[in-house]
Amino acid sequence: MERPRDEEIHVVTKEEMEETRRLLAKAYARKKSPLKGMRGVICPVCNQPTVDYSDDLVYESYRTGERVVITGLTGMRCRNCGDQGYDLRSSGIIERVLEERVPGGYECTITTLGGERLGIYLPKDVVREMDIEPRQKAIIKLLTRHRMVIEV
Ligand SMILES: [Zn+2]
Repeated sequence: MERPRDEEIHVVTKEEMEETRRLLAKAYARKKSPLKGMRGVICPVCNQPTVDYSDDLVYESYRTGERVVITGLTGMRCRNCGDQGYDLRSSGIIERVLEERVPGGYECTITTLGGERLGIYLPKDVVREMDIEPRQKAIIKLLTRHRMVIEV
């Protein structure tokens, strides 16, 4: 497959992202959770009929040394074992909050490995924050000619 030239790649601007977010937020706010009112669903974890709809779920995580807490989320929670799952609207909220918290990035230098091959050493801070091991496989996705994502 031929690689598209720079000018053929549409780079989504910050303004476009904001507009999309605004529209999505409006759509989510209008829509009532389809799970609302459900009770006694079988729990996938403990197998008891104790999963109910809840509108006071909490999302909590530690990312890059920072604690993120989001309250008032909707979804399903098990009365017996505490297992919980967020509905589509709340998953969207969590995703948006986490995306906005992507830090500025880590600087590293592209080095020569010999021949035509280039390499990047992962900074110590990145290794500490990520769940990665030596010799593990990673996938590089090219977004534009100046932007790529590494999935591990
Ligand atoms: Zn359970």
